Amino acid sequence: MGRITAVVMGLTLTLISGCKVTVSEGFDDEHDRDSFSSGFFLYIGDTGEDFPDDSWSLDVAAEACIDDSLYFETDSGRVRVYGSPAYSETDFRAAATELERRIDGVLSRFQLRWPEFVEDRSTSVPDPDHLIGCLSPTLSRSEFASASVAAVSIMPYASQWPYDSDRIITHELAHFVQENLSRYQARHSLLPLWFAEGQASVVAGEPIAPVYQHYDYDPLMDVTVFDATTADYRFEHYALAYHYLEEANGPLALTVLLDLVQFADWEGLDGTTASGESLAFVEAFNAAGLVDHRNRYLSLERFKTEYHELLRNSY
Ligand SMILES: [Zn+2]
Repeated sequence: MGRITAVVMGLTLTLISGCKVTVSEGFDDEHDRDSFSSGFFLYIGDTGEDFPDDSWSLDVAAEACIDDSLYFETDSGRVRVYGSPAYSETDFRAAATELERRIDGVLSRFQLRWPEFVEDRSTSVPDPDHLIGCLSPTLSRSEFASASVAAVSIMPYASQWPYDSDRIITHELAHFVQENLSRYQARHSLLPLWFAEGQASVVAGEPIAPVYQHYDYDPLMDVTVFDATTADYRFEHYALAYHYLEEANGPLALTVLLDLVQFADWEGLDGTTASGESLAFVEAFNAAGLVDHRNRYLSLERFKTEYHELLRNSY
């Protein structure tokens, strides 16, 4: 959309909404690439659009936004960033712009477009047709962003964001998407740690361990954070395990897997295996018809027991 059109639309919305606080356009920036997404500040007192407060769908970072009275909504209407009025306009706009610009690319890695994603989200998620952001004071440069089912939280002070903020936001958006696709009513993630982190790492373009180094780590043993070692390079091995599945099956098969996990959750399948995987994930994995690199059926049990053999024979 041209800037003139955007301004005219902005004025129209001013007239019809009556609750706009600030017009936000990139007047001072001729370079679209570097400019912020345009949008409006709105008060929840005027719109009634509270930050989602269902605790099951939020993490600690996002809970900080529950009482915020103000949000910035992008012109597309799909991104809303909540936060304290103490933060600058730039802080709101920078976060909203990142979410607006990155979500389509992330969804395309899941073979989805925005309307399909909205459709696939659990109806128990509050506000399923918006991507909600939270400027959270609990975050810092060392933990800059986090994702829950209902919201993606970002550190408020845009001038202090780390240099790789775009990669981190992409990674957290991948978590946001995978959790929304795989949960119906579960209070916690139904995905094993290696799968969730491996998929988010691959989507964000983070390093993948070289296949010939597969013996260095057993990623599939890391089902929960309590199983994981402190080795930094484990994320590259989570990515390697995920990448193996994606190479053999294609990204769409893995989106179907997430849908099947959500279906199992909807059916009320509860509980975990002795090794910690949710029964929903195990049942979905085995029902998804996934194959190995030789196109032979791959159960979760076989993937776990034959992981190194499969990787060794795959290159
Ligand atoms: Zn992660």
